[in-house]
Amino acid sequence: MADPRQKLDIVAPFFNEAQSAPAFAALLDRLEEAVSSRFGMAVHKILVDDGSLDDGARRFSQALSGSWEIVRLSRNFGKEVAVLAGLDQSRGDMVLIMDSDLQHSMDISLKMIAELVESPDIDVVYAQNDRREASWRRSQLARLFYSLINSSQRFDIPENAGDFRVMRGPVVRALTSLRDKRRFNKGLFAWAGFRQKAISYSPENRAIGTSKWSRLNLIAFSLEGFTSFSVIPLRIISLSGMLAALAGVVYGAKVFFEVMFYGVAVPGYPSLMVAVVLLGGLNLTLLGLIGEYVWVTLSESKDRPVYLVRDVVLSETAHDKPPG
Ligand code: UDP
Ligand code: MG
Repeated sequence: MADPRQKLDIVAPFFNEAQSAPAFAALLDRLEEAVSSRFGMAVHKILVDDGSLDDGARRFSQALSGSWEIVRLSRNFGKEVAVLAGLDQSRGDMVLIMDSDLQHSMDISLKMIAELVESPDIDVVYAQNDRREASWRRSQLARLFYSLINSSQRFDIPENAGDFRVMRGPVVRALTSLRDKRRFNKGLFAWAGFRQKAISYSPENRAIGTSKWSRLNLIAFSLEGFTSFSVIPLRIISLSGMLAALAGVVYGAKVFFEVMFYGVAVPGYPSLMVAVVLLGGLNLTLLGLIGEYVWVTLSESKDRPVYLVRDVVLSETAHDKPPG
C-alpha cells in the first residue's frame, strides 16, 4: 500500500469534447474511488481545455467532483502542448495522463497505477496499443517511420505508445523542463529515459464525438517527429546527392568516350529530360525537407512560451494553488 499522503494527479486534455463530459467525469469518479480505496492515494484532476469551441469547460466543471482544476488555454495548441500545460500544473507523487474521450479505460489506468505502486524500480508505466492497424499499408508505413527515426539515436521511441501513461513526480519534472515548442511527446518521453515499462491494451472505440486527427494532420505530425528527433533524412539527402553526382560523372565519361572514339552523335533529348526532371524533383523535395529543419530551428529560437493560459478554474476543494 502506498503512503496515505501520496497524491495522484490525473491530467486529461480536451478539445471540443463537451458531449463526453458527463461520462468522463463519472469515469474519473470511479477511478478516484478505486485509487483511494486500493492505494490510499488522494486524487487531483487537472483538465486542460485546449481552446475548445464548445462549452466543454462549463460542462466539465459542472460534472466533475472532488478536487479538480481546469486550465483553459488561450487557443487550440494541439494535444501535445495541452498535455504539457497539464503536467506543468501537477505537483503529485504520480501523474496519470489520459484522453478525455473515454478511449482510455479505467481498468488499464488502475493496472498501470498498481504496477507503479508495487514496483519501486520502475518510474514510468505506459500503455502500448496492441490493436492491429486496420490497413496493412498504414501499419507498414508506421513501422518504416519508427525504424527510420530509431536508426540514428541512443534511445528508442516505442511503437504504438502514446500519452496514456503513469509517471512518478521526478519524471514529470524532467519532462516539463524540456520546453520544445514543436512537441512530439513520444519522442520526449523516450528521450527522457528513466525506467519504463509497457503494458499492452486496446483502446476503446470512440463512442462519443470524433477523432481530431485527419490524414494530413498525421503526415504533419510525423514530419514533426522526424525533424525534431532524427538527422536521418538529412543523411539520405547527402547520400542520394552523392550517388546522383557519381552517376552523372560515369554517364558523362561514357558520352565523352563515345563521341571522341566512336563518333556517335549524342542522342540527347529523352535522357536529358529524365535527368532534369528527376534531379529537379529530388532537389525540390529535399530542399523542402531542409526547409522543415530550418523552420524548426527558427521556431525554437523565438523566445515564446510554449502555450498561453487564459485562466484556471478551480474546484472548491482543490489543494493546489493556481499558477502565478
Ligand atoms: N485533443 C486536444 N487538442 C487537440 C486535439 C485533441 O486536447 O487539438 C484531445 C482530445 O480531446 C482527446 C485527446 O486529445 O481527449 C485525443 O484526441 P483524439 O481522440 O482526437 O485522438 P485519437 O484518440 O483519435 O488518437
Ligand atoms: Mg481518441
